[in-house]
Amino acid sequence: MAWLNLAAVVNSTEVEGPGTRTAIWVQGCLKRCPSCCNPDFLKVEPANVVDINQLKKQIELNKSHFGIEGITLLGGEPVLQAPGLSELAQFAHSIGLSVMLFTGYKLEELKENKFNGIDKLLRHVDIVVDGEFESDIIEQNRNWVGSKNQNFHYLSERYDEAIEPIKEGVITEWRIDPEGVVSANGIPFIVKV
Ligand code: SF4
Repeated sequence: MAWLNLAAVVNSTEVEGPGTRTAIWVQGCLKRCPSCCNPDFLKVEPANVVDINQLKKQIELNKSHFGIEGITLLGGEPVLQAPGLSELAQFAHSIGLSVMLFTGYKLEELKENKFNGIDKLLRHVDIVVDGEFESDIIEQNRNWVGSKNQNFHYLSERYDEAIEPIKEGVITEWRIDPEGVVSANGIPFIVKV
């Protein structure tokens, strides 16, 4: 059985990539960017350890319930869990969903194959947004990215740069779960209050 160590999941969101998506934040990052938006997700320690097969079922359900067009992988640092995420991304592609990946590493570094399983993960990713978050150059014109140094890379024909400019609409979502916990996600953070 394979597992993923997750920090958070939002089953249906419209502010973490094109269309409606399931967003999956993994736990653990080796970088320490000043003003990291998700500092609780940095420690490499067990958080919410999830069976990948369960997650696949959840994604399939989200496709039929919410009509999601894809999944988005964020963190923490997704590439540290590339073997498990590549299996998840392959599954997402197999049922017609797209895959978007946010990483603090540059795509060139990922292509050097320093991370176990990264080649398979990149084969099943449509969009990579790469680079560390830099709080002194906040991005205000492009969708979903935190800072101006971060770049979109299109690894398949499914999307192109037409998705990048902010046009109109909501960029942050707020929700209340059945226990009354309020949370928000969007550019570029996820919080619980
Ligand atoms: S790479 Fe991302 S998650 Fe990691 S410290 Fe930098 S901003 Fe935070």
